[in-house]
Amino acid sequence: MDKLSPEQRHKNMAAIHSKDTKPEMIVRKGLWSRGFRYRLNSPRLPGHPDLVLKKYRTCIFENGCFWHGHEGCSRIPNTNREFWEAKIKRNQERDIETQKRLAEMGWHCITIWECELKPSKREKTLKSLAFTLNKIWLEEHSVIGKPYPQLEEESGMLKAAEEQI
Ligand SMILES: [Zn+2]
Repeated sequence: MDKLSPEQRHKNMAAIHSKDTKPEMIVRKGLWSRGFRYRLNSPRLPGHPDLVLKKYRTCIFENGCFWHGHEGCSRIPNTNREFWEAKIKRNQERDIETQKRLAEMGWHCITIWECELKPSKREKTLKSLAFTLNKIWLEEHSVIGKPYPQLEEESGMLKAAEEQI
């Protein structure tokens, strides 16, 4: 049974969401310290992404594992199970729809799950986020059909090979 009006629930959820802003700060700090610049909560884009990196054509969503139904991660409470299942399913469907719309507009989407920001996983998550962003940048800036710019090591090796011939 769910006795809250939609408006009340919205307020409740907003309070729960904003109470712990820590995961968001971890991502922001991690990106900033690595030289990435972003905008917060872009209201003009579908789904209001948490962070928008225009240079990388990328939207980042920081998802709470429970609300967005992180598979194999969060558990649905036995009390009001059907209600929660329906609610989380709606959120998941909305997430998919949002990412589809953003992709159609030429945006990349990255989802960071709350559990990936636990102290033990944080560094790895931020590292792979930076790696993914750089990869996206390379893809965006290479002409279709053209191979990726060679790594310095590789071109050095090619040169050495040419000199031998
Ligand atoms: Zn999770």
